[in-house]
Amino acid sequence: MVPNTIAWSYNSNGLFSVGSFRRCLEEELRNNEGSYKLIWQGWCPPKVELFTCQLLRGRVIVKEVMNRFGYGPQDLSCPFCNDAIETTSHLFLHCRWTWKVWSECLNWWDVSCCSNNSVEEWCIGWQNLCPAPNSIRAWGVAFFAVIWTTWECRNQILFKGAQLGSGGRRTDVWRPPQMDTFKFNVDGSTKGSSGQSGMGGVLRDSSGRVICLFSSYLGIHDANTIEILVVRKACEICALRRDLINWRVVVDSDSKVVVSWVNNEGFGSLKHVNTIYEIQGILRFLSNIEVIYNPRSSNSFADMLAKNGSSQSGDFVFWSDT
Ligand SMILES: [Zn+2]
Repeated sequence: MVPNTIAWSYNSNGLFSVGSFRRCLEEELRNNEGSYKLIWQGWCPPKVELFTCQLLRGRVIVKEVMNRFGYGPQDLSCPFCNDAIETTSHLFLHCRWTWKVWSECLNWWDVSCCSNNSVEEWCIGWQNLCPAPNSIRAWGVAFFAVIWTTWECRNQILFKGAQLGSGGRRTDVWRPPQMDTFKFNVDGSTKGSSGQSGMGGVLRDSSGRVICLFSSYLGIHDANTIEILVVRKACEICALRRDLINWRVVVDSDSKVVVSWVNNEGFGSLKHVNTIYEIQGILRFLSNIEVIYNPRSSNSFADMLAKNGSSQSGDFVFWSDT
């Protein structure tokens, strides 16, 4: 009798090899070109792409899947709404909380549509909904950001006792800037008790069109450090784009103390003095950039990118025209 062993089924000898893994992926891509075109573009950290790939293949272990295999928890309900069984299509698409996030993304690009039956159909549809050829990367990143953030939030609720809507996040409607102005919404995020933090930002014009997105991992920092680093990042991004010089750019931060330091209205902090000088240097050099305090800044997209940043080990900055 042959004893049970763990075997890699994609190789005839049962052993894992990089070549067999690549062949398996290539076949997967050929068989599922429609929904997989968005994946493996290198637009997101590999683990986010891998997770999305697994999701599209129906291999993400949500409560309904666990239950099907006989390991189900007693409570099968969706941790966001508690109104339905947690299936992949409900959690990532149909739940009213998740759909709110998708809707907000669609609104920013002025796209209207209704949801599909499955996440895979949604992924194919998402590519077809892209509002402009030069926005494809930003549009793709938004897809990954919603998927990954949904999964992270779900796990925080289930395993760390977090609550939806905790943290005093705003639900205000995003208000566009004036005609000749771009608005840079920025936000920082700290993940769980470990203090792993990230930052994110989104630059939009007066019509709400997304011009630039960024997301970065920061390591372990306190709240003020995160807020000041994200303001510096936004200023640096603006400074690197010569074509922005003809536009007024407002960096919208909800940190009163950081904005006061940057604008010389407070004493600042010794710890942050170099960063403050760097930001002030950019603002002196480029008078079209302004950092303002907005306590009711609608930053949910920037918040989403910051959460994405806190769980990754790489940076991305995407421009809609590149
Ligand atoms: Zn739900």
